[in-house]
Amino acid sequence: MPARLFPSGDPTMFEEFWRGTGAAAEIVIPGWQTMSYFSDVGNVCWFLEPGLDQEVRRVHRLVGNAAVDGYHVVVGTGSTQLFMAALYALSPPAGAGAGAAPMSVVSTAPYYSSYPAVTDFLRSGLFRWAGDASSFRGDTYIELVCSPNNPDGAIREAVLSSAGSGVAVHDLAYYWPQYTAITKRADHDVMLFTVSKSTGHAGTRIGWALVKDRDVARKMAKFIELNTIGVSKDSQLRAAKVLRAVSDAYELPEAGDARRRRLFDYGRRKMVERWRMLRGAAAASGIFSLSEETSALCNFTKEMAVTNPAFAWLRCDREDVEDCAGFLRAHRILTRSGDQFGADPRYVRVSMLDRDDAYDIFVKRLSSLR
Ligand code: PMP
Repeated sequence: MPARLFPSGDPTMFEEFWRGTGAAAEIVIPGWQTMSYFSDVGNVCWFLEPGLDQEVRRVHRLVGNAAVDGYHVVVGTGSTQLFMAALYALSPPAGAGAGAAPMSVVSTAPYYSSYPAVTDFLRSGLFRWAGDASSFRGDTYIELVCSPNNPDGAIREAVLSSAGSGVAVHDLAYYWPQYTAITKRADHDVMLFTVSKSTGHAGTRIGWALVKDRDVARKMAKFIELNTIGVSKDSQLRAAKVLRAVSDAYELPEAGDARRRRLFDYGRRKMVERWRMLRGAAAASGIFSLSEETSALCNFTKEMAVTNPAFAWLRCDREDVEDCAGFLRAHRILTRSGDQFGADPRYVRVSMLDRDDAYDIFVKRLSSLR
C-alpha cells in the first residue's frame, strides 16, 4: 500500500472493541433483499432506510449531543457526500440574479483539509473556497464549523454573524463522548455526523445530516439523487445494526455483559490512555508542544471529562525545524503538515485512532526525538 493515501485518520482503533460484540453487530442479507432503489417513498429523503432513521434518532437521544425532534435525517455516502450536498442546497440556484457569483465557502483556520479540496475539485459555478473565516469580508457565505475541530480539537462556534445571507454548516463528526464532554444538545440548522468517527465504521461509508428546514433537506436529497441515486441500503442496514448495538448496551443493561460492550466507555478509556502516553512522550522529548488539556462536565456520563481529540495538533518547538512533517518523516513518523489546514508548517496533525501496535511505535519514536 502506498504510504500516503488520501484519507488519513483511519479509525482502526475501534476494531478491538467490535471484535468483542459478536452477533450484536452482525447482519445477514438474503439474496432477494435490498434490491429496490427505494426505501421510504413518503420521506423527503426517499432512500433513507427507516431502521437507520430510527437508530440515528435513538443514539442522539441517548447521548444528548444533538436535537432530533423536528429535524429531517438525510443519509449520505459518508458525511463527505453530505457536505457536498449541503453546499449545493445552500448556494443560490444557478441563474438566480445576485447568485451569479459563486457562494463563498469559509472555515476558521486551522480547518479540515478536505473542506477546500472537496469544495473546489469540480470547479463548481455555485460555490468556491474562500479560505479562513476569520479574515472573510462579505455577507454571503457558507461557514463550515467543525467542533471539536479537525485538526486541533478546539470546541468551536461560528465566527461570522449570520446577519447577512450567511449560513453555517456544523460538522459534528467528533461530538461524541469518547472525544469530548457533551455539554449541550446541539440544535443548529444543518449538523453532519458519521459512523466513521462515532463507531469507527469508516468503510461502511455512512453519514447523516440533521436538517431543520424541509426545503434544505429536500435539496440535499436531490443532490444525492443526482450524484449516486441514493445511498447503499446494505450499508445503511449495517450502520443501523451497529448503532443499535451501541444504544442497546446502555439502554438494555439486562443484556448479559452489556457493560463490557459500552462503546463510549471503551472509547473514552482508550483515548484518555493514548493522550496520557502522548503527553508523556512529548515531555520526554522536550521539543514538542500540544494544546492544553481542557475539561468540562459531561451531560452524558454526569462526570468531569477531559477532551481527548481524535487528532493531536503537534508543534515542533525546535528553532531549526520549519517543516515539522518533513522532520518527522525523516524519523519514520507520517503526519499531515499544518499548511494543508491553512496553518503554520511547524504544526502537524497526527491521528490518535490507529491500531495499538502502530500507536505504540509512534509514541516510542516521538519520545526519542531531541
Ligand atoms: N468531517 C470531518 C471533520 C472529518 O474529520 C471527516 C473524516 N476525516 C469527515 C467529515 C468525513 O467523514 P466520512 O468518512 O463520513 O466521509
